[in-house]
Amino acid sequence: MDRVIVVGGGLAGVRAVEALRGKGYEGRLTLLSAERHKPYDRPPLSKAVLAGERDETTVDADWDRLDCELLLGERATALRLNADGPGGVVVTETAGDLPFDGLVIATGATPITLPGDGSQHVLRTLEDSLRLRARLTEGTRLVIVGAGWIGAEVATTAVKKGCAVTVVEAADTPLANALGPELGALTTRWYAEAGIDLRTGVKVAAVEHGGLLLTDGDRIEADEILVGVGVRPELGWLEGSGLEIEGGVVTDASLRAFTGGRGGSSPLEEERTSRPEIVAAGDCAAWWSERYGRRMLVEHWDTALNAPEVAAATLLGQEATYDAVPYFWSEQFGKMVQYAGHHTTSERMIYRGDPAGDKWAVLWLTGDRLDAVLTVDRPRDLVQARRLIAAGTPVDDEAVTDPETPVRQA
Ligand code: FAD
Repeated sequence: MDRVIVVGGGLAGVRAVEALRGKGYEGRLTLLSAERHKPYDRPPLSKAVLAGERDETTVDADWDRLDCELLLGERATALRLNADGPGGVVVTETAGDLPFDGLVIATGATPITLPGDGSQHVLRTLEDSLRLRARLTEGTRLVIVGAGWIGAEVATTAVKKGCAVTVVEAADTPLANALGPELGALTTRWYAEAGIDLRTGVKVAAVEHGGLLLTDGDRIEADEILVGVGVRPELGWLEGSGLEIEGGVVTDASLRAFTGGRGGSSPLEEERTSRPEIVAAGDCAAWWSERYGRRMLVEHWDTALNAPEVAAATLLGQEATYDAVPYFWSEQFGKMVQYAGHHTTSERMIYRGDPAGDKWAVLWLTGDRLDAVLTVDRPRDLVQARRLIAAGTPVDDEAVTDPETPVRQA
């Protein structure tokens, strides 16, 4: 392999470049990114950048030492794979067709927008954050659509800047999709305490000039509207390539892509042809988790940070699997909220500490195994529980419930 292209200049892209060089790849290396910036971190965009405490978040990488050609402001528009062997070309907007014998797909995700002619902010890029920041002035009526992670973080910052913030949410509680209604309901008072008008069960029909039109015909007036209703993996450029796409780029546990296949649950379906020279990582990858026996698409920073290590090893023909316990954090309403694991099939959920108080945690268990943990201002619990989840250490309810003792083995 002597011509590797990394498509996508986010965290996963830069980490793939670093990992390839770190593992001894000496051939030609190109990183292609639609954005004009060198790779930067996105979590501060809804926190320190929006608050005006930072203006940029560039990832600290030594591009000269990495010996990587940077094609910034350049979009991949198509992928053509060789039919008779490995490799192919990445078709670009202005830089022509770039041949490769190794490809990393790291094109991340794009925010979902709402119908309507009115102006709506989304928050994905540095420009998005700076644009919104300039509008968040004293007295501005900001309406946020979506009480998810991004909505809560932006609401936190906007209210501190003196904006009058309304958050509308289609579900009956914040974070209902991510955590379920019981836990979501526990965060409702955080909005009230911050002076935010949270309206749940509200469905938006369209973004109009100066406000939102709701499906029941009502209107909510706004000076600025932020839509934070989720993201979609950025995969349009792969249409017609033959790569298997199912929500994201379908990969096996080593992050190897496939052609053919039907997007079923097993990575071993006969219809699939493995493409060992193509890997995917970060927000755009739907990878097979051996730990959970299912396909995962995790749109969080920790995955973009660590999965590229495995993707690079796979590309270089080394044995590696990505078997992480997913992790993320969110800073909202002055609280550090952290989550590790995966709980959709868990048997039971137990509280650790009083959720009416300021610091508490929730643990999900199946039998004597810990599946997942959510902590609110209890970072030590997160670390301890994450370790037990990763190791599959047996626990019992008594050993994990008492907030005065560490989360520990049974
Ligand atoms: P991206 O960062 O999306 O990078 C993909 C890059 O590829 C982009 O530069 C894009 O322009 C480029 N690209 C796309 N298509 C093409 C193409 N066709 N050709 C060339 N280039 C292309 N996670 C947490 O765990 N905790 C947090 O607190 C947190 N906060 C966040 C706050 C915000 C505002 C946002 C937006 C995200 C946050 N995240 C957080 C999520 C985390 O930042 C993402 O999971 C991470 O950025 C994903 O990295 P990535 O490299 O996979 O994708």
